[in-house]
Amino acid sequence: MKKLIEPKIITELPGPKSKKLLEIREKNVPQGVSGTVPTFIKRGEGALFEDVDGNVFLDFAGGIGVLNIGYSHPEVVNVVKEQCDKYFHTSINVVLYEQYVKLAEKLNKLVPGDFSKKTMFVNSGAEADENAIKIARKYTKRTEIVAFTGAFHGRTLMTMSLTSKVKPYKFGFGPYAPGVHRVPFPYCYRCPYGLEKQSCNLHCAKQFEAFFMEQVAPEDIAAFIIEPVLGEGGFVTAPLEYVAELRRICDKYGILLIADEVQSGYCRTGKMFATDYWAEKGIYADIVTSAKSIAAGLPLSAVTARTEIIEAAQVGGIGGTYCGNPVATVAALKVIDIMEREFFAVKAEHIGKICINRFEHMKEEYELIGEVRGLGAMVAIELVKDRETKEPAKDEASRVINECWKNGLVALSAGVRGNVIRFLMPLVVTDKQLEIGLDILEKALEKVNDEVFSHA
Ligand code: PLP
Repeated sequence: MKKLIEPKIITELPGPKSKKLLEIREKNVPQGVSGTVPTFIKRGEGALFEDVDGNVFLDFAGGIGVLNIGYSHPEVVNVVKEQCDKYFHTSINVVLYEQYVKLAEKLNKLVPGDFSKKTMFVNSGAEADENAIKIARKYTKRTEIVAFTGAFHGRTLMTMSLTSKVKPYKFGFGPYAPGVHRVPFPYCYRCPYGLEKQSCNLHCAKQFEAFFMEQVAPEDIAAFIIEPVLGEGGFVTAPLEYVAELRRICDKYGILLIADEVQSGYCRTGKMFATDYWAEKGIYADIVTSAKSIAAGLPLSAVTARTEIIEAAQVGGIGGTYCGNPVATVAALKVIDIMEREFFAVKAEHIGKICINRFEHMKEEYELIGEVRGLGAMVAIELVKDRETKEPAKDEASRVINECWKNGLVALSAGVRGNVIRFLMPLVVTDKQLEIGLDILEKALEKVNDEVFSHA
């Protein structure tokens, strides 16, 4: 098979074979299962994939942050094939297998915190968060959970309730699960208190006591759940000083701190976990959930928690038939092995620096860019129609993404306002591919920027 090296569009898009498959999709799959790119994949390799019509795309969406290791990493493919020859499934609740316990042992070492931990596995990010909530409630014997504005924790009933973005994730799907409260995420570009980061004196972090008086008693709260870097919410990093205050408040009232690392984990942010940055300041989560890039695309997620907390759940109370599947756990062990051996965290930092540098230059050129931000290779640009008013440029973000796709680059939007373009490129992307992708992005931005501002 020919090696995939760079993007190349050889048909009109979507191509004829994709078009036929789109018709089948239209007839048979509900619209609720959204699709960003109307293109069907044939095969993937590294940071690229070829579609059924022979077009090659650079993938800066990485299956929504699942492909940090890249498409079809040969070493992962090998262990998966070997495992498939042996057995697919036993259910860990029935017959045990080595890779489950070895992976748990590995994550207990890797997740920040020099204290005793245990890990359980489930199948998706939402399931991991659901279980974290169950465990936190059981341990604390409290019912209430506090989530953040901009949060995304999944589409199950509880995680949808924890999620902030109403459309499309919640609209019409209520009533929501009880016991969920919300505080503002420290989104400095759009400060909920209208303040400036340089002079705000961490005002948002000082609002917890008022929140406890006005909304919910701290003694009723089992946990705060926070993404160290908002994912769907638009790649906003919670400032470390804010997290320190949050931790202090949790400790003061016996509230657990859950870090949702579903999107930020597995080297995306320049560390194995974004909470490694917290650890540098002596801040630790009590429970960490992770998923996505853990197993190169096989469905797997993890809940890692302090031993005394996770052991509160009674025998048989957590888990499920498929959880910690043998093939997925074998893949995860290999993924983590490669990430450590080949310094993927360093790669992420390198990619992030190149992106931020280019984005800053683009910001000088194109008024459409309101803010450039990121942590490691979890990078984004926020588009606005007016830098003063910060009016969100949602349609423009969609047009840029569409223009990128037409030229062979897959990118994703994000943000409650839908005006953020986020990048989750496989960390195996080469410098050359990165440059090509950023060139495609820049051309798309230039086009849309001209359309918007030449009419202003
Ligand atoms: N938590 C975060 C931070 C996420 O980004 C996501 C998915 O994007 C989830 C939870 C839900 O994961 P899943 O879609 O695997 O249920």
